[in-house]
Amino acid sequence: MPTGFAHLGVSYSDASSNLRTSTGDSRAWFSYRCPWCLDSVSGATLAFIPGENKVLTQRWLRCTSCGRGAVEFGGVVSPPALEGKSIGHLPEAIGLLYLEARKALGAGAPTGCELVCRTLLGHIAGHLGWDGTGQFAGAVQHIDSSGFITPPMRVWVDRIRQHGNEAAHEVAAVNPQRATDTLRFTAALLELVFELPGIEASQGG
Ligand SMILES: [Zn+2]
Repeated sequence: MPTGFAHLGVSYSDASSNLRTSTGDSRAWFSYRCPWCLDSVSGATLAFIPGENKVLTQRWLRCTSCGRGAVEFGGVVSPPALEGKSIGHLPEAIGLLYLEARKALGAGAPTGCELVCRTLLGHIAGHLGWDGTGQFAGAVQHIDSSGFITPPMRVWVDRIRQHGNEAAHEVAAVNPQRATDTLRFTAALLELVFELPGIEASQGG
């Protein structure tokens, strides 16, 4: 817990119901995934709007891990947490796109997530020397021929392309679970092409 943390000395009161909470009151804490540090924490309720039967209808939270703030309303925490895992050693442009895909899914925009993942395929292939021929199928072919993936991996790498195509052309909304899978496949490919070689290189052989 950060030094200077104020919650321990805070108590709350509401004139209409004499509602008071303290750190011993379960309502003084709220379990959520912090959108900033991504830790699963029991955050401190610094302020709230009381509802009926002593239920809190809205609360302002402070993360007990990183100290940054969030608001909970109806069980939903804002800002939304990133989805997916952090990947190291990414080139700047690719890192920004991957962050955008994670933000999109976390914010409840699975179609946008899958579109960005398909775009990432092109950038990854381009990093590996792809000249842009053959559209996204050509990108998958180039990644396949680059030696970074084995034949069984080609199936899920191509899923990133297929899901992106469907997200781009179909009218129906994208299933969030499918977008979660698409993001996971994308993360695995980024690990293979950038993170693992980067870790190896940083160890100096
Ligand atoms: Zn945090």
